[in-house]
Amino acid sequence: MRPAELFPLFTDVANLKGVGPAVRKSLNRLLGYASPFMEQDATGKAPVVRDLLFHLPTGVVDRRKVFTIAEAPLDGVATLIVTVDKHMPGPPGRRAGRRPPYRIHCHDESGDMQLVFFNARGDYLTKQFPEGQKRAISGRCERFDGSVQMTHPDIAVPVEQLEQVARLEPTYPLTYGISNKMLLKLMAQGLAKVQPLPEWLEDGVRQQKGWPAWHEALRSLHAPESLDAFAENSPVLQRLAYDEILSNQLALALIRTEERKEAGVTIEANDHLRDATIAQLPFTLTKGQQDVLAEVDADMASGNRMLRLLQGDVGSGKTLVCLLAMLRVVAAGKQCALMAPTELLARQHAASIARMLEGVNASSALLTGKMPKKERDAVMARAQAGEVDILIGTHALFQQDVAFKDLALIVIDEQHRFGVNQRLALASKGDRPHLLLMTATPIPRTLTMTAYGDMDTSQLTEKPANRLPIDTRTVNRDRIDEVVQGLQRALSQGAKAYWICPLIEESEETDTFSATGDLAAAEERHRVLQRILGERVGLVHGRMKPAEREEVMQGFAGDHYDVLVATTVIEVGVDVPDATIIVIEQAERFGLAQLHQLRGRVGRGDKQSSCLLLYSSKCSDIAKERLRVIRETNDGFRIAEEDLLLRGAGDVLGTRQSGLPQFRFVDFAVHRELILMARDDVKLLLHRDAQLQGARGKAVRLLLALFGYDRAVDYLQAG
Ligand code: ADP
Ligand code: MG
Repeated sequence: MRPAELFPLFTDVANLKGVGPAVRKSLNRLLGYASPFMEQDATGKAPVVRDLLFHLPTGVVDRRKVFTIAEAPLDGVATLIVTVDKHMPGPPGRRAGRRPPYRIHCHDESGDMQLVFFNARGDYLTKQFPEGQKRAISGRCERFDGSVQMTHPDIAVPVEQLEQVARLEPTYPLTYGISNKMLLKLMAQGLAKVQPLPEWLEDGVRQQKGWPAWHEALRSLHAPESLDAFAENSPVLQRLAYDEILSNQLALALIRTEERKEAGVTIEANDHLRDATIAQLPFTLTKGQQDVLAEVDADMASGNRMLRLLQGDVGSGKTLVCLLAMLRVVAAGKQCALMAPTELLARQHAASIARMLEGVNASSALLTGKMPKKERDAVMARAQAGEVDILIGTHALFQQDVAFKDLALIVIDEQHRFGVNQRLALASKGDRPHLLLMTATPIPRTLTMTAYGDMDTSQLTEKPANRLPIDTRTVNRDRIDEVVQGLQRALSQGAKAYWICPLIEESEETDTFSATGDLAAAEERHRVLQRILGERVGLVHGRMKPAEREEVMQGFAGDHYDVLVATTVIEVGVDVPDATIIVIEQAERFGLAQLHQLRGRVGRGDKQSSCLLLYSSKCSDIAKERLRVIRETNDGFRIAEEDLLLRGAGDVLGTRQSGLPQFRFVDFAVHRELILMARDDVKLLLHRDAQLQGARGKAVRLLLALFGYDRAVDYLQAG
């Protein structure tokens, strides 16, 4: 239950004055409904006053000083008090856009000026500016033909209302249907609902940092009396960021406690299945693989539940690690589940695991949502009877009717595709199996703490020894013909190549891209490459039926195709060790992490691989910088760090699907040390008051609720 103190902040914005259905719709968009709180909020379906107040201004207009006409600055906004002299409507009757403007002459004791209006409605202006009366106006002044003029004043009111004008006016990011004026009015109503809340920060910390109280912090941004709050990394902004990160770290700590409350199944060492599998491998385990496996073994033997995140760069061999971990569980007579984000990956895992288990006394099976019902039912029956040791599938694995006889380990591959909530849902499954999450998306350490702070982590940084570094080059797209010729030569020597196009058809263009309007269409590219390179060019894209896509992929893995034209459907996990060339078109449109993922499709065998990044010379500086980073390093963790610095955390993994929490106030490039500070703060707090019953504990519960971590609060009440 939400604390009563917060009710006013959780009222629907529709209850504010001036919010009809149309404005409400725009607010939905403006306040990003879907992100960021949806991830955490059990209740959040529509924006509430909190969301409005958390929409921070990005700038401020200073209208405080009242100037005379003679002194008015010509390069900024000024507030003036003028007397209205004479209206000069433009000559009537001509086409609107071309008509000379409507002018109003005004003066003060220092001189004359004109107000200028285009496409004006005369009757409205006569009411607004009655001749002979004084008006307080504010807007941008300029000098034109030797006289001062102001085009479309931002504000014009009777002088008695001067104080409504002569102030600091925050400016907000806007969207269609919402003007800054409207937002200011809404913010004022929102602020009226903000009561001082019990302080959830330590007094000492607040004093030392010079941070204001929470309600003061909001006020100094939405109704500022000075410019202080707007300074970069100001105490106000720090305070808000700290609140956000503190709530995040606390929620994770509580989840961690909850997840570990009950003991896990103890898995004893029994390695006959594992050893038999290793004996059949054509290679030996890397040191990294051995180390991670040892960590996993120790977790599962500890009597506690394992909650481990395995971060391993693309191609570092995570699949094998998890298979070997599972085999110990199977040897103990229990079952495992391996979940992959896509049908394609699930099938691929099923195939490679079945291959590795040939002649080993352990069974595996595939279960996906798209399988024919009969087949599906049969697999489910076998899983329930305990006849399948390792069940591999998509998220269909965890739906309704799927039951296991004795599930003791869940492995989730490419975990970042699943999001925090799905993990929590899993964690609340009855049988409390061990949990191993794997991700090929290296995440900077500070970010890991905010997303996986409740978990133990392992890193697989070492690649198998036989790998050569991928030769990465950037090539201007004007030279695409040379690239194709080069490809032709390589193919004639037996190479295999991916050719990546960003989107499939023009119609899939998103708003952001339409401005440039020259997306490579995969189908078109496929046709062209087929014409030049012959029939052995395959095409896969997201709109194909999984079975079709699978067939083409198999054809590429096998001997049917030499070139695979693909959209980003192949981004994650796909493993064709023979492929040694990847061409990425419009590379500037991809995020760093995504480029790194794509590049990781090659360099998976012992042959020299190369990656060609085609870019347009029109691409932005940031994009060029990104391409430079990807060219210079193959180290996924370094790439992740650079990405963080280049773009800020909001966008680190390119998409919102990253599964990382989306922060409003925290800027990872600036607030690193706040994260560490919050983590220590939480440790100490929970050490002193694990159930959050003390004064600060109670205040901190408000903070959790404020940021939508309702589930974490529930754990407390239950515990
Ligand atoms: P990822 O970590 O990206 O999921 P995979 O598990 O798909 O990587 O492994 C990539 C490739 O490396 C596979 O073809 C796999 O068989 C191979 N591989 C795994 N471990 C080793 C090793 N120790 N030595 C050589 N090759 C390995
Ligand atoms: Mg993988």
